[in-house]
Amino acid sequence: MYSLLENFSLRAVLETFPNAVFLKNSDLRYVFINKAYEMMFGIKKEDIIGKTVLDLEYLPNDDRSFYQCEDLKMLKDAKIGHHIVKYTFSDGKVHICHYWISGFVQDNGVRGLLGVIVDVDQERKVIAMLQKKIHTVVLQKRQIEEESTIDFLTGLHTRKLFEDALFRYAAAGDRRFSCIMFDIDHFKAVNDTFGHPAGDTVLKEVAQVFKECSRTGDIVCRYGGEEFVLLLPGSGLGTAVSVAERMRERVAEKVGLPDGRCITVSAGCSEHAEGEYGSLVLQRADDALYAAKNSGRNRVCMLRAPASPQATL
Ligand code: GH3
Ligand code: MG
Ligand code: MG
Repeated sequence: MYSLLENFSLRAVLETFPNAVFLKNSDLRYVFINKAYEMMFGIKKEDIIGKTVLDLEYLPNDDRSFYQCEDLKMLKDAKIGHHIVKYTFSDGKVHICHYWISGFVQDNGVRGLLGVIVDVDQERKVIAMLQKKIHTVVLQKRQIEEESTIDFLTGLHTRKLFEDALFRYAAAGDRRFSCIMFDIDHFKAVNDTFGHPAGDTVLKEVAQVFKECSRTGDIVCRYGGEEFVLLLPGSGLGTAVSVAERMRERVAEKVGLPDGRCITVSAGCSEHAEGEYGSLVLQRADDALYAAKNSGRNRVCMLRAPASPQATL
């Protein structure tokens, strides 16, 4: 048993183990306890080494006999035992613990016992702490994504960048521009039939088509989910409709499903009217998209601005 502990790395592992660990020899006497054990029960190594569990005054009499019996059984049969037990720790509180005891036989035939005590409350606290940390990381990730200008899945710009650009162009009012809003048709069915990863592949391929068909200076974004928006600086409504039409055709040609069916998109186009808020241009593109969906999908619709602006900057 002592020779076992002379193995430095084993001792180091047992010492730094977060749960209480002890080793006993074939006389059921403690030969080692680790730091966690010392802390849990508020005792020092020198107070326990060489003693049996029957000598431990901080345990009730009945408990001492129970552990002695259990240890003896496990030692004799070199078996592993597990119990849920209660201990009063050095903090004066009763803790519910897992008590694992394992009898073993060394190569030289010497028998021994390895015990591990895991505080269930502590375990729960660690799990709760980890869950809290995971939650924080998820929130941070979401915030980073929201603040980021590049969509992590498609490599297109993000909604945030789009909305900033839309506001800037509308506020400057010195250059005409148009918007196109795309939405993939029946995309939910793609996920439902082929799985979410296949849905993600479709999103990437559609995004690639939009990138390839756009001109330098166009702002191509993933607005959210399976919706995409483009801001075309210097383009009027007619150009926006032809760009959208070209993109729609190219998606149907290039993006397909594992069963051979093609993916289609619907689009709505609008042009900024003088003095108009950016949000209104986008709203019109969205209304036009709604019309495209309602009139059968896989098509492009457009909506002209009303004769007089609805709001001025
Ligand atoms: P419609 O033709 O009317 O647009 O029907 P739809 O099925 O495309 O519309 P719906 O809004 O019902 O479904 C959009 C789906 O997009 C639901 C959602 O699970 C999926 N989705 C959103 N974001 C992602 C994503 O990042 N990856 C994948 N794979 N799916 C996504
Ligand atoms: Mg949608
Ligand atoms: Mg859709």
